[in-house]
Amino acid sequence: MKLTGVGASEGVAVGPAFVPQTGRPKPERNRIAEGEVDAELQKFRNAIEAVVGRLSETIDGLRRSGNEEEAGIFEFHVEMAEDPELASAVEERVEKLESPEAAVLAAGEEYAAEFAAMDDEYLSARADDVRDVTGQISAELMGRASSGFEALQKPSVVLAWSLAPSDTARIPKGMPLAFVTAEGSRTSHVSIMARSMGIPAVVGVGDGLERALQAETVAVDGTEGSAITDPDRETVAEFEKMSEELAEERAALDEYRHVEARTTEGRRIEVAANLGSASEAEDALEWGAEGVGLFRTEFLFMERDDLPSEDEQYDAYGAVARVFGEKPVIIRTLDVGGDKDLPGVDQPHEDNPFLGWRGIRMSLDTPDLFQPQLRAILRAAAHGNLKVMFPMVAEVGELLAAKKMLQEARSGLEEEGVEVGEVETGVMIETPAAAVCAAELAAQSAFFSIGTNDLVQYTLAADRGNERLRRLQTADHPAVLALIRQTCEAAEKENIPVGVCGEAAGEPELIPKLISLGVTELSMGAPSIPRAKKVVAEL
Ligand code: PEP
Ligand code: MG
Repeated sequence: MKLTGVGASEGVAVGPAFVPQTGRPKPERNRIAEGEVDAELQKFRNAIEAVVGRLSETIDGLRRSGNEEEAGIFEFHVEMAEDPELASAVEERVEKLESPEAAVLAAGEEYAAEFAAMDDEYLSARADDVRDVTGQISAELMGRASSGFEALQKPSVVLAWSLAPSDTARIPKGMPLAFVTAEGSRTSHVSIMARSMGIPAVVGVGDGLERALQAETVAVDGTEGSAITDPDRETVAEFEKMSEELAEERAALDEYRHVEARTTEGRRIEVAANLGSASEAEDALEWGAEGVGLFRTEFLFMERDDLPSEDEQYDAYGAVARVFGEKPVIIRTLDVGGDKDLPGVDQPHEDNPFLGWRGIRMSLDTPDLFQPQLRAILRAAAHGNLKVMFPMVAEVGELLAAKKMLQEARSGLEEEGVEVGEVETGVMIETPAAAVCAAELAAQSAFFSIGTNDLVQYTLAADRGNERLRRLQTADHPAVLALIRQTCEAAEKENIPVGVCGEAAGEPELIPKLISLGVTELSMGAPSIPRAKKVVAEL
């Protein structure tokens, strides 16, 4: 059977299917004897302590690797585990002789239902976190492993309805060969994880996954976005061949990792990485990133129920700045809206969210959100070579307003005597309006970065996520190329560099065209860097 979804992380893999039993544990006993209440309550408290202890270790580990956003999620789990209301609900039940392992599941379910009923999409999704935590406490009470991933002992293809951060964090290193999930998009947590682990992933395969759960073997093509269950011998051979070719191709590209990308004529092209979280920074350097062309800060905001504080943001941006040292790191300010919701902020319903309150439009309207981010960037800039970039700019007034707010943030910090660094400011060229007004914008910018993903969708009026419009989802269209040319010409007149940080930057067949149009920097998912450097070197 063939499942199709979104190719969220490239590569192919064939292996035994592994379906984690991440469902709720079944209580061993429902009732306890009257004389057992005190002892069982003590066991319940011990179980909370054990679960919180494990969660805290996970949080410390994530913090050490600079992964603030994931740490934030587990902090919510700790809060839930220690919630006094949850504890008293369980205690009441135990006093009525319900076993603690059953009581914590039942109380957790009531709590989860309250979350699930909330209007806010993000908060209602927290119901799963509540079930996750109460399930862990219940499993602990029964002396069982709390996550099905302990059973993942050999390299396998992981099939799951969805994978929560608490699931992926428990997966033993080196064991998953690939992920296939029913839910999810390229920006969901599992996709980000797969890309940084360098393993293929197909997400959003839908209901078909149900039937695939019985499979023994699965062949995954994360480049195409498909998976074949119980493949026949020919298919396995075909996948093995693809995998070998890919491995050979990657090995042959290793020599390009750490070269400075330069065309045969000696034109220097900087090849940088796109990051979704600070924890990807070290890996990106290993792949040969000469900087960060796009740090998508929205993930830091999206994967938690509240807003990250200025200090938390400072830690994340500072961590990337330190890893990259002298190398430039472009921090893009918050780009939510469109298909990305922001928990913690009341976003109005919009009929056309991609044409709505997105990116810089939202930031300028919500200084409470924007100022702490700008302050965090300026503070982190003291530890490296940071630049700031504004998304979704459609007119020069937006750029000027954003720069004014940046200046205000700087003055405020200076008055407080807080150390700040210098940052250049640049603009994403991802609306046709920005490309057409590039001359005006260039006069006010230190650099441009072309977001081809959005530039294509807005220029060709083709939703970037609509699978029926694949034909139109390419930057290799005369209208898009004309806008890129216009952008590069405007940049050249002002003598500022132009990068591309949309998917097109990592596409080998497009790189020569982009460079011939005047692009000077390419930024992409880190595993694509060696191949891009090779393409440049052969130009
Ligand atoms: C783009 O639009 O090309 C881009 C890089 O931004 P994002 O994909 O985050 O919208
Ligand atoms: Mg964009």
